[in-house]
Amino acid sequence: MDARKEVIITEVSPRDGFQSLPQAVPTEMKIEIINYILQCGFKQVEVTSFVHPKAVPQMSDADEVLQRITRPEGVILRALVPNLRGLERAIAARVDKAKLMLSATDSHSMNNANAKTMEAMKGFEPLVLRAESDPIKISGSISVAFGCPYEGIVPIEKHIEICKRYEQLGVRDISLADTTGMANPESIKRIVYGLQQEFPDFHYSLHLHNTRGMAFANAVAGYAEGIVDFDSSLAGLGGCPYAPNASGNIATEDIVHGFEEMGIKTNLDLDKILDIAKLLQEKYPDESDSFLLKAGKCSDLAIAPTEQIKLG
Ligand code: ZN
Repeated sequence: MDARKEVIITEVSPRDGFQSLPQAVPTEMKIEIINYILQCGFKQVEVTSFVHPKAVPQMSDADEVLQRITRPEGVILRALVPNLRGLERAIAARVDKAKLMLSATDSHSMNNANAKTMEAMKGFEPLVLRAESDPIKISGSISVAFGCPYEGIVPIEKHIEICKRYEQLGVRDISLADTTGMANPESIKRIVYGLQQEFPDFHYSLHLHNTRGMAFANAVAGYAEGIVDFDSSLAGLGGCPYAPNASGNIATEDIVHGFEEMGIKTNLDLDKILDIAKLLQEKYPDESDSFLLKAGKCSDLAIAPTEQIKLG
């Protein structure tokens, strides 16, 4: 590991978390929670998704949410954008960064975007062109990058093919997503290393779901390969549409605590994060999953017994 000893955590619960709740979070409450989140020190927050309201009703208030939250100076507000209409809405809402959604495999892409991967990629061209005349930044993503529920392991050749197209579009900020928690530390290393060799000037981030309890190990593996940018979700909110009872994103409090314990700075206020995570867990006990909310921080020492308990 190198000497930077610092990572950037992007909070995604307002999008990935709230999107997978069975019922939409009321707009007022959403605004209140995002405003709390914006006080924790995050440099980037994924606030919503500009998808069609019929496709994802939980995100139908995207425009209003953006308009009414208190935007601190210097925080990048990111939103998912599936098409030109979504990008126009994001621009009107003064989103800082629009994230394109792309699946690594044709079958997952057909399921999500009703187009094969490269067809979906072709559909990004007008978005990139439109963004050129606006301060909005465009970032890319590769979901199911470390395993697809339909096709299994994705070969590195596919990632390279996708990144070549992203490069042609001028998109070099790429989120590699383990959407269904199929990654392991070795596959993270292999794909991250392979892509860094091919596209050394790209910026990569990791979006890790904790579906099989591997997310923090995967984050550490990514960090060892030079990744310093990670997504996470308060209280572990978020789900997996292919495994209804499975965990969602790695919990923000778990990844922050884990890195801090390793001496790697996150520059975030963990106590504030825990307060919001606790609140979310109380409201959505079935949708949250967090080690820290169960066990507390390592530094929360118990009071030592004054007298030795005698056994027998
Ligand atoms: Zn996700």
